[in-house]
Amino acid sequence: MPHDKYNAKRGTSFHIQDKQDTHELKKYINKCIICGCEGYSPIILENDFFNPASDANPPPYNHANRMFYRNRYIYDKLTSIFKKPLKLDNLGRCEDCGKLKDIGIF
Ligand SMILES: [Zn+2]
Repeated sequence: MPHDKYNAKRGTSFHIQDKQDTHELKKYINKCIICGCEGYSPIILENDFFNPASDANPPPYNHANRMFYRNRYIYDKLTSIFKKPLKLDNLGRCEDCGKLKDIGIF
């Protein structure tokens, strides 16, 4: 990831821009290659991505903490769009499709 993404020219403005916004969000959307269902990546539920408990006492809103705000944005957005996380196996299948495949339906 280029480290100048949030460069000095923008000062303390590190808001995710619209285009970049979509790009950033997409990285955390999982899509099953068989049924096409979508959900957010379980990664965003991990505490080292964003810990909702830390939101009670958020860090100062500045450049140094941009990852906190970026991750919080992604977490909030994706958990509001999708009801639940979608875990994919190493072949890109959701759990349901993985099960069907294993018993020979696909
Ligand atoms: Zn599926």
